[in-house]
Amino acid sequence: MVSKKKGISQNNTETSLIEKFLYPKFGPGQMWNEVARIVKEKGGEILINSKATEIVLEQNRIKNIIITNVLNNKQTTLIGNYFFSTMPVKELINSLKPKPPKSIVEVANNLQYRDFITVGLLLKNLKIKQSPKNKNGNNLIKDNWIYIQEKSVKIGRLQVFNNWSPHLVKNPDNVWLGLEYFCNEGDDLWQKNDKDFIKFAIDELTSINIIEKEAVLDATIIKMPKTYPAYFGSYNRFDEIKNYTNTIENLFLVGRNGMHKYNNQDHSMLTAMTAVENIKNNIISKNNIWAINTEQDYHEEA
Ligand SMILES: Cc1cc2nc3c(=O)[nH]c(=O)nc-3n(C[C@H](O)[C@H](O)[C@H](O)COP(=O)(O)OP(=O)(O)OC[C@H]3O[C@@H](n4cnc5c(N)ncnc54)[C@H](O)[C@@H]3O)c2cc1C
Repeated sequence: MVSKKKGISQNNTETSLIEKFLYPKFGPGQMWNEVARIVKEKGGEILINSKATEIVLEQNRIKNIIITNVLNNKQTTLIGNYFFSTMPVKELINSLKPKPPKSIVEVANNLQYRDFITVGLLLKNLKIKQSPKNKNGNNLIKDNWIYIQEKSVKIGRLQVFNNWSPHLVKNPDNVWLGLEYFCNEGDDLWQKNDKDFIKFAIDELTSINIIEKEAVLDATIIKMPKTYPAYFGSYNRFDEIKNYTNTIENLFLVGRNGMHKYNNQDHSMLTAMTAVENIKNNIISKNNIWAINTEQDYHEEA
């Protein structure tokens, strides 16, 4: 997206229509690799391939948690002063020992999510072209993302990774696309095997004249459950979960699925930063964490 306006402030623009970004050269993962490096440099330990599977309570506190290594099923008990949870609320509540009251488990089990499949396509070029040529002297379209409205296809959004950062694409003459499908775990899209899904995705983009099949050089697919915490199901009773988890003194629900809230990265980080500030300043109430991102105008759907 190209703008003639100088500066980065775009307070009066809808989130989906902003025209300037600060974006890491190699994508958001680069930022988190750097965070991991700093954590380790400062003596912290990061356990990967490890899942919190049991959270043991004693009175109003977490006594310890059981971590299961997903590769070899080995279990480890961890103790700690404070626990930050980014795991989906549904899973958190079902991991607590002893079990929370029945009504809390009922609300948790009826929380709903939307799930996500993305297909990456590496192409020689696109069928649609930018005219006149853009400032790089080629005719690649200028958009970072495009919402697809055609009723004949299931694809919801298209990413053009070259335009996010040229460093994401090894050969600048090629185009990396991300085809995004919003779905439900277990539905027809979810059940398709990877090979069939990639073929289906290529056929869809061909049918709406964005690519030509022959231009595809490579493809990959990622299925990601619980990408969108939904505001239906038992969400209207979410306060019961909030009030219950607030009573567990050393537990902090943060982030997106962690709070079952449509937080983007900035607000997700802010919830964790606010939790740390509360601990540092002996603030017991968690209300200021729950208050983050309640201004309606931020939400993309507003
Ligand atoms: C398609 C899509 C596009 C998006 N685009 C943007 C964007 O352009 N800008 C933006 O700001 N945000 C964007 N977001 C939102 C952004 O991804 C989230 O806001 C952010 O990742 C939330 O951070 P988080 O730490 O809460 O959750 P996550 O990044 O999901 O991290 C949660 C972590 O908890 C771990 N975890 C879960 N359960 C357990 C367990 N039991 N034990 C141990 N670990 C566990 C997970 O493995 C994961 O590492 C997008 C999201 C999607 C789905």
